[in-house]
Amino acid sequence: MTDIRDAWTTEVASWGGVARPRHLVLRPGTRAEARAIVADDSRLPLLAHGCGRSYGDVALNPEGRLVQMTGLDRFIAFDRDTGLLTCEAGVRLADILDAVCRPEPDGGGWFLPVSPGTRFVTVAGAIANDVHGKNHHGFGTFGRHVAAIELARSDGSVETITPESHPDLFAATIGGLGLTGLILSATIRLRRVAGTALEAEDIRFDDLDAFFALADGSEAWEYTAAWIDCLATGTATGRGIFSRARHAPGRAAVPPALRPRKAVPLTPPVSLVGGLSLKAFNALYWRKLGLRERVLKTGSYEPVFYPLDAIGSWNRLYGPKGFYQFQCVVPPGADGRAAIAEMLRVIAQSGQGSMLAVLKTFGDLPSPGLLSFPKPGITLALDFPNRGPETLALLARLEAVTIEAEGRIYPAKDSCMSAASFTRGYPAKADFQRWIDPAFSSAFARRVGLIGEGSRA
Ligand SMILES: Cc1cc2nc3c(=O)[nH]c(=O)nc-3n(C[C@H](O)[C@H](O)[C@H](O)COP(=O)(O)OP(=O)(O)OC[C@H]3O[C@@H](n4cnc5c(N)ncnc54)[C@H](O)[C@@H]3O)c2cc1C
Repeated sequence: MTDIRDAWTTEVASWGGVARPRHLVLRPGTRAEARAIVADDSRLPLLAHGCGRSYGDVALNPEGRLVQMTGLDRFIAFDRDTGLLTCEAGVRLADILDAVCRPEPDGGGWFLPVSPGTRFVTVAGAIANDVHGKNHHGFGTFGRHVAAIELARSDGSVETITPESHPDLFAATIGGLGLTGLILSATIRLRRVAGTALEAEDIRFDDLDAFFALADGSEAWEYTAAWIDCLATGTATGRGIFSRARHAPGRAAVPPALRPRKAVPLTPPVSLVGGLSLKAFNALYWRKLGLRERVLKTGSYEPVFYPLDAIGSWNRLYGPKGFYQFQCVVPPGADGRAAIAEMLRVIAQSGQGSMLAVLKTFGDLPSPGLLSFPKPGITLALDFPNRGPETLALLARLEAVTIEAEGRIYPAKDSCMSAASFTRGYPAKADFQRWIDPAFSSAFARRVGLIGEGSRA
């Protein structure tokens, strides 16, 4: 039995490591235990926590109860005819790939319909942030492939909700940031692929226009995204490497190990990601293809989808102060393109670069969630080492450019967007608020005004 004083000393950090508030952490091992926690009428607000891969405070509930869901990691059913997989909330995408993405005699296999850039996230975490992947233009968000959710609410109800049975509550729970109740299990639709290996091409490009030309000309490629050198200026603004990939029919690749192969053992006392090393890294990475302009390879999906997963706890490289991530989406067309160019100008001018600057175009498949982040347009994601007020000032400028362009910021990555920016970016906020379970709360929800500060509802 955990002593409550020990429990209160539990610090839970966001993935970016900027916030490390204390929580009362509860660890149910079964769905019955999880139901009992939700039905328990404590005065402390509740929030579920998955693998903690959200960069900001969306999975934090300072001075409240945090329900660690990774103990609910059982598979319940898999129908090989339909691809419908039912599993507990804490099953990770890595576990699903490990179980179903096994090479079959013809090289084909089952695959996730949509995956974020790490496989170490839970199914419920992927639902609650309605995550997207490199195939957004063809498959939309994760939530589009969710057939049913078993949801426990603090009124004691436990129901299986589907888009047909409970359309409003379902739409609120997809991308619902963990605020509509506790997901106990879910049914998702996997997809059959003709090959579990990937054919992947990297192409160097010289500027933003070249990026858009490549994005427009890549319809035949299922997965697309680009790394950009965010410190390049002038005519080189927006230069980078465009990556596109597709399943290779009849070619199999065994799933990667369930654990990272290398790990950063300790948080170094200072960030190893500084101004000089960033500039050198960006310049070097842009030349990674050497003299060639494009490189085509076929192989495992891990280096294409999950390059960071090979190194455990890579977030520690940013040191004890942590780092911020910023991800926005702005509408397509000239205004959106101009907004991205302006953001890159602001970043280069600030001298605060990012190693991981990713640019991608979202397609127009609608997201099913009221608060889902993706919408048609251009998305830019970057990491910034935490240099205090200087970094906050840069993030505020990027937020202003995003909102001015009628875009929005991704809650899963965010640590500082204002309530006003959230309200402008998410017009369904008021509709969503009707579905918030009064026992649930989060640091993010309080910060952006989804829930009144200090109240339970
Ligand atoms: C390297 C890296 C790359 C990434 N790439 C992408 C990307 O390409 N696309 C993208 O969309 N995201 C990306 N992300 C973000 C990540 O996919 C999301 O933050 C994801 O939701 C994290 O899942 P988790 O299990 O860690 O959940 P957590 O971060 O622990 O929680 C996320 C949310 O889910 C809620 N939640 C968790 N479990 C439950 C439950 N059982 N019931 C109800 N609510 C629950 C939490 O309350 C919280 O609101 C990336 C993150 C990293 C670290």
